[in-house]
Amino acid sequence: MDQSMNPRSQPSVDSPARTLPPLTPATLYLVATPIGNLEDITLRAMRVLRECDVIAAEDTRRTGLLLKHLEIQKPMVSYHAHNEARRTEEILERLRGGEKVALVSDAGSPGISDPGERVVRSALAAGCRIEAVPGPCALVAGLTASGLPADEFHFVGFLPHKSGQRRNRLERLKEVPGTLVLYESPFRIGKLMGELAAIMPDRPVVLARELTKKFEDFLRGKPAELAARLQERPLKGEFVVMVGGQTGV
Ligand code: SAM
Repeated sequence: MDQSMNPRSQPSVDSPARTLPPLTPATLYLVATPIGNLEDITLRAMRVLRECDVIAAEDTRRTGLLLKHLEIQKPMVSYHAHNEARRTEEILERLRGGEKVALVSDAGSPGISDPGERVVRSALAAGCRIEAVPGPCALVAGLTASGLPADEFHFVGFLPHKSGQRRNRLERLKEVPGTLVLYESPFRIGKLMGELAAIMPDRPVVLARELTKKFEDFLRGKPAELAARLQERPLKGEFVVMVGGQTGV
């Protein structure tokens, strides 16, 4: 039997492999990359990036910097929101030809508020193999460190930009059980706290800022308190916003 097809040949904690199996041909690998701290790249992510035939990257310049840091040289093609349709066809052609394609986004897990879903769906429809190479993801890092319940949560991603649409969405989200997890830009984080103060005033909120980076910190409080703090001292950086459920801690 071809060892690469035998799941038992994969290294595991119970049986670390001496020789690793080669990557599987005609497979799309979804490779998670660091969200701030370069040490967070996994051994498997490095091997896939090293051994694949081509890397489809959201931003080839940015991924180029990561590859340089990892001392990996590999051809890249761009795959982003504005060329997804065309590039999906090209990636499928490569997969049909037996190539191993790694898909990476600018940071974190591809397909999570980042391009990826379309090529995964098309590859599955075309009968190609998909493999996730898990790793950093801001929503998981933020949620698990928040102290809010993670047994039931709802990932929202980014809210729309228009005020009316945001309000409607938040009104609907009020009814969703469990912890809500949102991504928000530093330019709208104060606005979001104001909206939450109006729509879910009693919910506990955790702002996870700059996760895995030098100035990582967590702000905790009710929406109105956080809105006031941000008004007093606006904060830069990247944010994951967790909103506890009706009975959240
Ligand atoms: N695919 C990524 C992931 O797996 O988390 C998310 C990409 S999305 C375009 C970028 C958003 O994720 C940011 O605006 C922010 O809300 C969140 N994010 C990414 N990195 C972060 C970090 N280091 N700290 C806090 N939030 C982060």
